[in-house]
Amino acid sequence: MKVQSIRGTHDILPGSVELWQEIERTARDLFGLYGYAEIRTPVLEETELFARSIGIETDIVRKEMYTIEDSKGKSITLRPEGTAPVVRSYIENGVSSEVPVAKLYYIGPMFRHERPQKGRYRQFHQIGAEVLGSDNPAIEAEVIEMLFRLLQALGLQDFTLLINSVGCPVCRPAYVDRLREELRTRAGELCEECRRRTETNPLRVLDCKVPTCQPAIDQLPAIADWLCPECREHFSLFQKYLKSQEIPATTAPRLVRGLDYYVRTTFEIVSGRLGPTQNALVGGGRYDGLSELIGGPPAKGFGFAMGMERLVLLLSGRADLGAPYKPPAPEIFLVHLDQPAFEHNLGLASELRKAGIFAYVDFEGKSIKSQMRQANRLNARFTCVVGESELQTGQMTLKRMADGSQTTLKRIEIAEYLRKEK
Ligand SMILES: [Zn+2]
Ligand SMILES: [Zn+2]
Repeated sequence: MKVQSIRGTHDILPGSVELWQEIERTARDLFGLYGYAEIRTPVLEETELFARSIGIETDIVRKEMYTIEDSKGKSITLRPEGTAPVVRSYIENGVSSEVPVAKLYYIGPMFRHERPQKGRYRQFHQIGAEVLGSDNPAIEAEVIEMLFRLLQALGLQDFTLLINSVGCPVCRPAYVDRLREELRTRAGELCEECRRRTETNPLRVLDCKVPTCQPAIDQLPAIADWLCPECREHFSLFQKYLKSQEIPATTAPRLVRGLDYYVRTTFEIVSGRLGPTQNALVGGGRYDGLSELIGGPPAKGFGFAMGMERLVLLLSGRADLGAPYKPPAPEIFLVHLDQPAFEHNLGLASELRKAGIFAYVDFEGKSIKSQMRQANRLNARFTCVVGESELQTGQMTLKRMADGSQTTLKRIEIAEYLRKEK
């Protein structure tokens, strides 16, 4: 039986990986301008971290986590998202005592055991950033400005920012009660999942994508009408700062996100080109209570996660991409006629690489003709055929593949010559 990749995972091959690298490079450069430093947390964490932060009533924790027991009976989980690990690390390493406001970003794989479908993976990748230590709505607008700059720098145009406020522990409970009452009276119009969530997590009903639930959901009270004065003020300042950065935003009353730790500002960036049910490219918000949920001191937090697979999907239609993959072209392809020449070429190639030149040696011991064919296929700029006479005289002839012109040089002159020819 042939061993194959696990369902819901995918390989990123040469030809595609260059786009991933470009996205990562662009993000790193841009995030640096805003003062973000990279953080790399382990892929494995205690299950408790996610159970407490994301909430045991969420789909993620209930049925999507890859959880195993280690040999000592401790429950550990492949991280399904990046925020809780970053906050855990921030607390554990005492970052808050070093800097008043910590700006951190991460890039890496996440794991969720979802039913595989188009655009959804069990190992997927996210770029995310977190600001810890500030509850200023201006910093939220700054994060979103940074995201807009990133998406624009990558050549993405048609995307929309959706914003909402999910209130705070002061004002949300009354709204949730009101919502639950309303949902109970509409139970007959709701799917089974919504009826269950009516009791466990009514806010999540607003996320339901089942078409038959939509008319009832559209009639539900909006949280905006239930915000306390502080939440109202926070949200209107956030909108003001967005406006002063000329960032267009659409208020989305149903945008409550699936995770329990969000308070006040939530947002998504969506693209119509991703289709109606999985159109979110970026999701994020404020999570001031998260640190305390996992046993840390109070810490204000705001951040986002962006799905790289979806971004790649959108960008792979970009006009300058889509050329078939070509392996990198050697500066010089060293052809050998016999074993002593092969051994000589290994040494010469090594010297040339030390000088920063991409030198290629054929290892298959094939004929001169097949080596020349290979040099052509790789699009080598120069070839150099080495045999007995070259080894005796120490003179090598470089052939420029583009026009066939030849230059004879001493071995030690080759690096210098190629550098000038670059
Ligand atoms: Zn409030
Ligand atoms: Zn439903």
